[in-house]
Amino acid sequence: MDRGKGKVFTSKPPNCQLQKVYELIQNGKWNVDKIKAVFSEEDCKRIISIPLSICNGKDKLVWPYSTTRVSTVKTGYMVAKKIQKEKMERIQQEASSCRNEQNTKVWKSLWSLNMKQKLKHVVWKCLHRIIPVNKVLKSRIGKEDDKCMCCREGKEIIEHMFFFCRHAEMIWKTAPIKWDEIHEFGNKFWLWWNSILEAKDRVEGKDHIILTVNILWQIWKSRNQIHFNRKRKCLGSIVNGAMQEWFECQSVQRGKVDEE
Ligand SMILES: [Zn+2]
Repeated sequence: MDRGKGKVFTSKPPNCQLQKVYELIQNGKWNVDKIKAVFSEEDCKRIISIPLSICNGKDKLVWPYSTTRVSTVKTGYMVAKKIQKEKMERIQQEASSCRNEQNTKVWKSLWSLNMKQKLKHVVWKCLHRIIPVNKVLKSRIGKEDDKCMCCREGKEIIEHMFFFCRHAEMIWKTAPIKWDEIHEFGNKFWLWWNSILEAKDRVEGKDHIILTVNILWQIWKSRNQIHFNRKRKCLGSIVNGAMQEWFECQSVQRGKVDEE
């Protein structure tokens, strides 16, 4: 969003009693001392530069993203798309800059997650694009057929197998966790992983990431069952498998904390 477009960036100081804009106006002028006491220098400058009405109009809510100052579904949609685009660009930029560095935060975050090594390895292989899906086997060892055996429709690349295959889609629909932007990242597992890592600082974010990796692991296992044994497990048991391993991992962690 354009910085300063109708939005104040200073966080509200504790015990700040300000509620309405008119509290910052005195005798038809901005109360500069009061504004300086509350807002950052940048916000302060922007507030003071706003011309005040000479006819003492009442405060009203305006929507700064349309010329009529009235919010509409269309402008709301455009703003949401813009925010989404900026987020994607930021993640893309961060991902490409840290891809070039050793010991990047992506690797550090992956290895620091409290989960089994096999789970970390599956993500590690995906990030290096070496998990042996058919497309990878075709380009590495010349396997003839790179078609997905789960749906027999798409080419089996990593993202197809984990996200876009009908088989994977059904598993995600049954799973208790959703990541809204899977489709936005297309065939870029690396970007998707970067975006879900953003969740690690929120409450229970790490647990959600670990559950997600458990689901990836179960999708991979069930894919292998279909490929090698022609066996299809029911969706419920695939998701339950992920949940169970996740619960076990959590109780081990809790046990460790209790011992300390
Ligand atoms: Zn498929």
